[in-house]
Amino acid sequence: MTVEQFYPIYLNAEKVTIDSRKISKNDIFFAFSGDNFNAATFAHKAINDGALAVIVEDENFENIDENIFYVPSTLQFLQDLSVYHRDQLDIPVIGLTGSNGKTTTKEIIHAVLSQKFNVQYTYGNLNNHIGVPLTILSVRAEHEMAVIEMGANHQKEIELLCSLAKPNFGYITNFGKAHLEGFGGFEGVIKGKSELYAYLKGENQTVIVNENDQIQVEKTQDYQPKITFGKRTSDYFFEIFSIEHFVGLDYQDTKALSQLTGDYNFTNLCAAAALGLHFGVSKDQIKEAIESYTPTNMRSQIVKKDEKTLVLDTYNANPSSMNASLQNFITFEGTKTIVIGDMLELGEESIAEHVNILKTAHDLGFNEIITVGKHFKAVNDSSRSFENTAELIEYLRSNKIQSENVLLKASRGISLEKAIDFI
Ligand code: ATP
Ligand code: MG
Repeated sequence: MTVEQFYPIYLNAEKVTIDSRKISKNDIFFAFSGDNFNAATFAHKAINDGALAVIVEDENFENIDENIFYVPSTLQFLQDLSVYHRDQLDIPVIGLTGSNGKTTTKEIIHAVLSQKFNVQYTYGNLNNHIGVPLTILSVRAEHEMAVIEMGANHQKEIELLCSLAKPNFGYITNFGKAHLEGFGGFEGVIKGKSELYAYLKGENQTVIVNENDQIQVEKTQDYQPKITFGKRTSDYFFEIFSIEHFVGLDYQDTKALSQLTGDYNFTNLCAAAALGLHFGVSKDQIKEAIESYTPTNMRSQIVKKDEKTLVLDTYNANPSSMNASLQNFITFEGTKTIVIGDMLELGEESIAEHVNILKTAHDLGFNEIITVGKHFKAVNDSSRSFENTAELIEYLRSNKIQSENVLLKASRGISLEKAIDFI
């Protein structure tokens, strides 16, 4: 069975899924074999749930239905099918990568471009070797554009994702200290993320450049065409303003105030606005998109609770985003407590980076510093250093935080959001 033969079935399908719980009538189900389950069991269930076709890779699979197809590798078939489909699409495909801010930027780009076009985009954080092909396959005939988030924690990953998504527009949000372990240090991050630039080197592929980011400028020096922002001399120039912790973008006297906090989100807004202007979205539409975008996903989210202002940034953390978050939070009026959790996947630089962040936190002078996780515990001997979120919660039950503002930030693995109800 080739992807070419299978393609007409795909075109008739409602959607493609790899989640056996989400199968509905006329879907295509890709059954991935896991360590603990046999995909065949799910294949039969999928057919019963009304799937149009099921792809399985179990070698000992006993086929009982003509709509179940055996392939040597489900993943390979999924990726090949997505490439085949991508090649049929004649629309702008915007590829995004970077250390921090991919999802936020993707969502704002989607909000802005949706003012004028029917845009498909990565759902949630489905940005890897499975999520990217699923996103491509979710682009249907009615879509006029696609925005695809590409994540990576090691070399050659972005190269692979580009070979699937074949973006003709690309933006790297930034180069930061994230996934240092897998990339092999900061230089490795630059190299790995720049695989997007390498892909965009071809003709008629447009790179989006933040001209305040020296690395981006250098890496794309001889690229054409380009969409630039950041400087007065750039294609598009935006000014920052903020009102009560919320950051806004001012473009030729049209002011758009977002519901995001942090100057770093200004850059994310700029990228989206620049792309919007490039594609003919009006100033007023951009304002509308930026003002109505509501973060709900624990990324730079501000929540009022009782008399307190909470900054929820528990979706992820690494030294770059932690620093950005602390620098932003120190500007808040009133007393401030930070509850910061471990930054994971830093490899041999882990201890030094946790020491650095702790030092920054002390230097900035927060009223109270609470840390959560083994890595911080190893370098923080204060009584407000907890091994995990459960221990923190125990502490909070009898010691309510007094500050008017509280920042919560940690890597996903710390599940720091569980502590929110106790603050
Ligand atoms: P992931 O690698 O998990 O997919 P991501 O790159 O998609 O992450 P987001 O989920 O958008 O990033 O944001 C995560 C956090 O990164 C935010 O809550 C914020 O603290 C920080 N962040 C967002 N944008 C930037 C930026 N431009 N520079 C630095 N930090 C940022
Ligand atoms: Mg993301």
